Amino acid sequence: MHTPSTPAPKIALVSGGSRGIGAAIVRRLARDGWDVGFCYRSDEESARLVEKEATELGVRCLALQADVSDPVQAKSWVTRTEDELGPVAAVVANAGVIRDRPLVLMSDDDWHQVMDTNLDGVFHTCRAAVFPMLKRRTGCVVTLSSVAGVHGNPGQTNYSAAKAGIIGFTKSLAKEVGPHGIRANVVAPGLIDTDMTDALPSRDRERLLSSIALRRFGTTAEVADLTAFLVSDQAGYLTGSVLEVHGGIAL
Ligand code: NDP
Repeated sequence: MHTPSTPAPKIALVSGGSRGIGAAIVRRLARDGWDVGFCYRSDEESARLVEKEATELGVRCLALQADVSDPVQAKSWVTRTEDELGPVAAVVANAGVIRDRPLVLMSDDDWHQVMDTNLDGVFHTCRAAVFPMLKRRTGCVVTLSSVAGVHGNPGQTNYSAAKAGIIGFTKSLAKEVGPHGIRANVVAPGLIDTDMTDALPSRDRERLLSSIALRRFGTTAEVADLTAFLVSDQAGYLTGSVLEVHGGIAL
């Protein structure tokens, strides 16, 4: 049976923390007293703003540029964060992109950009963060999938494949690392108001709204609340689960 030696310090990693859901998770974890290291791909200005907001909550926050689709950058982000903040107890693999197009019009680039960030990025981030957790025999992982990965969505074969892959990845990881005291769960949001969904044409937005029982898109804070719960001690017996947060969407 697993017995953690000492309580882990509250240090979390969030990929893609400069905007949207990732930024809300950084703020929420900071409010809960977590020191947070996060990465972003290119939007340094937004990253600095989130870093400042989190620091003003009285915790340490470190924003570093790293493209998680590159295994070397992902590894060095995790290592630098551990060097500066200390041992990471929770990792949230959130970074993601969309390149929506019907299958027959989808280019190789559309396919690979989505797979590289959304699926390979999760692999790179988790591999780098879980290795030291195994040695410490404690930690938890949250991956960001999507209702598109659970139910499918037209125009998103690339995205849905990556997000379904994340579910298989996380369930397998949960079984692999559970005996070592590490939990792994999936958050699968529906439509959440962020830059990602701002890009939707208003006709699609109206159609999608009518398919949501609560008749509104979710907020980033609502996804962050669920993530904060999953990394907390209150979720100590939750692993290998896929938690959908979608306001009752029918896809
Ligand atoms: P946003 O587009 O608002 O933000 C994406 C974040 O990821 C940014 O911080 C961006 O950095 C970062 N990022 C993108 N690519 C990389 C990369 N290769 N390496 C490092 N960081 C990267 O997305 P959302 O907040 O909307 O989405 C967050 C997650 O939630 C994604 O995985 C998405 O698929 C998932 N999701 C979102 C839904 C929604 O309705 N919004 C619904 C279901 C799931 P930078 O600022 O530098 O570009």
